[in-house]
Amino acid sequence: MRLAIVEGDGVGKEIIPVAVNVLDALGIDVEKVPVELGYGKWERTGFAITDEDIEILKGCDCVLFGAITTPPDPNYKSVLLTIRKELDMYANIRPIRPLPSVKGILDRSDFNFVIVRENTEGLYSGIEEIGDEVSTTKRVISRKGSKRIAEYACKLAKGRRNELTIVHKSNVMKSDKLFLDVCRETAVANEVNHRDELVDSMAYKLLISPENYDVVVTTNLFGDILSDMSAALVGGLGLLPSANIGEKHAFFEPVHGSAPDIAGKGIANPIATILSLKMLLEWRGDMEAASLVEEAVDYCLNIGIRTPDLGGSNSTQEVGSAIVDHIRSRLKK
Ligand code: NAD
Repeated sequence: MRLAIVEGDGVGKEIIPVAVNVLDALGIDVEKVPVELGYGKWERTGFAITDEDIEILKGCDCVLFGAITTPPDPNYKSVLLTIRKELDMYANIRPIRPLPSVKGILDRSDFNFVIVRENTEGLYSGIEEIGDEVSTTKRVISRKGSKRIAEYACKLAKGRRNELTIVHKSNVMKSDKLFLDVCRETAVANEVNHRDELVDSMAYKLLISPENYDVVVTTNLFGDILSDMSAALVGGLGLLPSANIGEKHAFFEPVHGSAPDIAGKGIANPIATILSLKMLLEWRGDMEAASLVEEAVDYCLNIGIRTPDLGGSNSTQEVGSAIVDHIRSRLKK
């Protein structure tokens, strides 16, 4: 397997080396291809990502990605939007499930849902007109884009509780009527039980009764916001992994960003990235290695080794070492 490794900016430079140590401990044969992308590269070279970088990513089987800083500068082209579009990774999968010995805001562990976010269109279309008086962003919803994300979500639901919740705002934004209709048709065709929710009401319901949800399918911006919000149910952004999946490529990254407020302090929680590596291993069909990673993360949390975001006093490195040591000791047996 050729694996592109992108550290990116900020805490990306601290968490990715830890995740790579975990990969090495598993002893999996991987050709690692380091790729520099992001704001640091932009400051140095004037480009955050080049055509050559995109070709390198396309030549790899998948990507393990840290995080990048995206300044609100209109001249800065979003690296993530570029990659998701160029590699056509239309499905952003964000599992939200409790972790052992970690309290989320509700202090409950009876929920387990997945946000399936359309990743290539919606309000992140990149079609914008920026003016001094008026600025606009075009929201794009296509039948093709809605159909393929709905199919993905239904397939996922079939392997779970067979329950799909379609999240939209079609009462106000008429573009969402197409998304809703296509998702409903697809759920019916796949014999998946389904209902729909307006996004504002869904935000409330997810925090009040998260156990009622299984697979949640939604458009780009709504999925982004609902998943960051849902991180609070689990215990923080430092715990939430994600996968971006397309027909040919896959890309694994924590849900969080470059966290400039804690970057350089060595205290970023590496677990979101390590669980993203677990998703990569599952995508590759390496279920044994994936469950060993999960077991090692659970072990680390259960023995109380944790970074300050979880109320602990351990460093990024110390959490990584506990996870690596557990994997090594299990592989020796
Ligand atoms: P953020 O996700 O970087 O941070 C939000 C909060 O969560 C901060 O308080 C931060 O300290 C905390 N946090 C994040 N990751 C953590 C970790 N691993 N361990 C412990 N705490 C963690 O969001 P932001 O501050 O709004 O954005 C910072 C930069 O990241 C911006 O430039 C933004 O555009 C970018 N961003 C990038 C991505 C990505 O690369 N996928 C995603 C979101 C934001």
